[in-house]
Amino acid sequence: MDKDLLDILACPACQGGVAQENGQIVCLICRRQYALRDSIAVMMVND
Ligand SMILES: [Zn+2]
Repeated sequence: MDKDLLDILACPACQGGVAQENGQIVCLICRRQYALRDSIAVMMVND
């Protein structure tokens, strides 16, 4: 995933920064995980 794109993404739940870990997007603040599909983050809250 493009690092620049990762930089502008924010967690939809807490607006925190996110990082790519183990093929997923992980929020650095609340640790919610978001799937990566075809290199596009699926930023949906599934609570
Ligand atoms: Zn978050």
